[in-house]
Amino acid sequence: MNNELSKYIRDIPDFPKPGIVFKDITPMLKDATAFKMAIDQMQQIMAPWRADALLGIESRGFIFGAALAYKMGLGMLAARKPGKLPYEVDKVSYDLEYGSNTLELHKDAVEKGMRVVVVDDLLATGGTAGACAKLIEKQGGLVAGHIFAVELTFLGGRERLAPAPVEALLKYDSE
Ligand code: AMP
Repeated sequence: MNNELSKYIRDIPDFPKPGIVFKDITPMLKDATAFKMAIDQMQQIMAPWRADALLGIESRGFIFGAALAYKMGLGMLAARKPGKLPYEVDKVSYDLEYGSNTLELHKDAVEKGMRVVVVDDLLATGGTAGACAKLIEKQGGLVAGHIFAVELTFLGGRERLAPAPVEALLKYDSE
């Protein structure tokens, strides 16, 4: 991997359950230079996408999303787990390997025609980011792109998010 940020990603085998290799991004957040580099690289990648706003996915997506929103002078929308948002919400449920998940977004988050970039720490199967795309479109917005710190390419998430642009700083083609 030629991105020097790769040394700040720590593999945790069998977390949160046996067989999963968890990609821990906290060493990258802890190192001021690495975190700044990650946000700067994300900004460069998404600059041509002409975003009007960023949508961060709870919870690690908030960390990258907020820093990127500040850097780019954009507003930040928050997709949250059920029951966390105080106002009226739209919700989308999506299947996981075992069971399902739901994400919520305040009903008035996306303006008609707004170009929104979805931000998260990691792209695996694309179910989570795909649910956010559905929420944006349900509210009349356009998905300008998806940006991640890490992509597990062998899980095919980017195909699920097509035709929106999908980019990641670090790509892993096996566990
Ligand atoms: P998915 O919906 O399958 O694309 O999963 C992406 C979401 O699950 C992101 O919010 C990630 O933070 C989390 N996630 C899934 N797999 C991993 C992994 N191997 N390491 C770290 N986070 C993961």
